[in-house]
Amino acid sequence: MTIQWFPGHMAKAKREVQEKLKLIDVVFELLDARIPLSSRNPMIDEILTNKPRIILLNKADMADEKVTNEWISFFAEQGLQAIAIDSQAGTGMKQIVAAAKEMTKEKFLKMAAKGIKNPRPLRALIVGIPNVGKSTLINRLAGKHIAKTGDKPGVTKAQQWIKVGKEMELLDTPGILWPKFEDEEVGLKLATTGAIKDTILNLQDVAVYALRFLSEHYPARLKERYSLTDIPDDIVELFDAIGKRRGCLTSGGAVDYDKVAELVLRDIRTEKLGRLSFEKP
Ligand code: GDP
Repeated sequence: MTIQWFPGHMAKAKREVQEKLKLIDVVFELLDARIPLSSRNPMIDEILTNKPRIILLNKADMADEKVTNEWISFFAEQGLQAIAIDSQAGTGMKQIVAAAKEMTKEKFLKMAAKGIKNPRPLRALIVGIPNVGKSTLINRLAGKHIAKTGDKPGVTKAQQWIKVGKEMELLDTPGILWPKFEDEEVGLKLATTGAIKDTILNLQDVAVYALRFLSEHYPARLKERYSLTDIPDDIVELFDAIGKRRGCLTSGGAVDYDKVAELVLRDIRTEKLGRLSFEKP
């Protein structure tokens, strides 16, 4: 289910996250490692203000490792710690807890100095746009399947803390924030990676964007996947070449551009073209 974001929803989402922030020590800002900027909520700095924050570059298993490392350096230059993770496989989970402990160390030392003998576990919240992997990460950290994947607007329940080892607790409902809308390229990147549903943007537009991007940045992979000797500059010719190779044809034998678009996007999202990053710092 896709949330339609209207101004009222955004205001409510912001309010809900800020309400949750009162309870927590550290925020995990979940981003898609393939598109760290495009998968960011546009008001995130304003919403989180001065809360300690750790950036988690999720789906790092699908992203270009070299580029992900560049992103980690990029965020470090801005004073933000970023960690590459794969919530599906559970890679990076220990690092997350260690980083959260480190980030809240002083706060807990101060509590200890005030004479609090058995300090409570540190409390964390996951925030991010839809489909970035929040529920998957919560399930991973919880070690069992408690959070439902997928967003269910309108379904509210009492908030609960999930124990993550002895020293951390995680709020069982993530903060769901809206994606950027204004920039067309952001939308195309979100659609290419599957963060927004195919029905929102025109499928062929998204595939045109993706194929142009691959032609420029990953030409060898494109050639290999679709057995092309060279990549035509003309996008229609490229669609034709892929369509003919892959038999994406209408009953009359012409190339079916929708089928080509579907095929290419499916291939990208299922890693048939390898690990891809659509944004560089
Ligand atoms: P949410 O809307 O932010 O809660 O996102 P979900 O947890 O429902 O995840 C959206 C999709 O991304 C699901 O199909 C997950 O299986 C997939 N996913 C989540 N994390 C990862 C990851 O680290 N790697 C990969 N390959 N897929 C992931």
